[in-house]
Amino acid sequence: MIETRDLRYAYPRGDTLRLGDVSVAQGGTLLLRGPSGSGKSTWLALAAGLLTPLAGEIVVAGQSVAALPAAARDAWRARHVGFLPQKLHLSEALTVGDNLALAYFAAGLPVDRPAIASALAMLGLSEAIASRRPSQLSGGQAQRVALARAVLLRPRVFLADEPTASLDDGACAMALSLLQQCATTLQATLVIATHDARVAQALPQAQVLGFRAAVAEGAA
Ligand code: ADP
Ligand code: MG
Repeated sequence: MIETRDLRYAYPRGDTLRLGDVSVAQGGTLLLRGPSGSGKSTWLALAAGLLTPLAGEIVVAGQSVAALPAAARDAWRARHVGFLPQKLHLSEALTVGDNLALAYFAAGLPVDRPAIASALAMLGLSEAIASRRPSQLSGGQAQRVALARAVLLRPRVFLADEPTASLDDGACAMALSLLQQCATTLQATLVIATHDARVAQALPQAQVLGFRAAVAEGAA
C-alpha cells in the first residue's frame, strides 16, 4: 500500500512541488500522469526514500519513509522497494548475473543464484544472458534485465519511471504486460510514472495521480 498526505517537496533554489494525496491498497496500481518537469520522478524518489519531503507524509508498505534514519532507509529501500529507473543503470563492468547479484549486496543478503536464474526466466530471458555484459543486450533485453533486478527480492512496492518512453506500440504493450505480471505475481503495489497516453489506455483500472506543470508555492 501507499498513502500520502499533504506531501510537498522543494529542490534547492527550485519551486515547491505540492503533491496530491493518494491511497493505494496493497497490490493496486497507481499511474503518475503529467507533462515533463511536473514532478513525477520526484514523487518516485520520495516514495523510495531517496529524497526527504519538505512537509507531509508518505507511507509505503506500512512504513513512514521519511521517519527512517538515512542508513535504515537505504536498507529498507533495498529490501522492500523495486525500482525500474528511466535510465537503466546497468553496470558495464559486470555481467548481467552480477548486476542482479548487486541487489543482494545492497540488501545485506547472501546472493541467491537460483533466484537470479528464475527471475531471468520469469521475464523470458535465457540462462545464457546471465554471462553477457549489458552492451551485448538488445534494448528490450536490457529493460527486462533491469526489471528482473527490480523484482528479485520480491519487493512490496514496485516503481517504474517512464518504462515505455522510447518503445514502439508492440514493445510498449509487452513492457506493460510484464510490469503487471511481475506485480501480480509478487502481490506488489505498482506505480508507473508516465507522460505516455498509451499507458493509461492499457491500464484503465489503475488509480491516477495527475501532475501539472510545476507551480510555485503561493502562486494561483
Ligand atoms: P518529471 O519526472 O515529471 O519530468 P521531475 O520530478 O523530474 O519531473 O522534475 C520536477 C521539477 O523539479 C522540474 O521543474 C525540474 O526542473 C525540477 N528538478 C528536478 N530535479 C532537480 C534538481 N536536482 N534540482 C533542482 N530542480 C530539479
Ligand atoms: Mg521524470
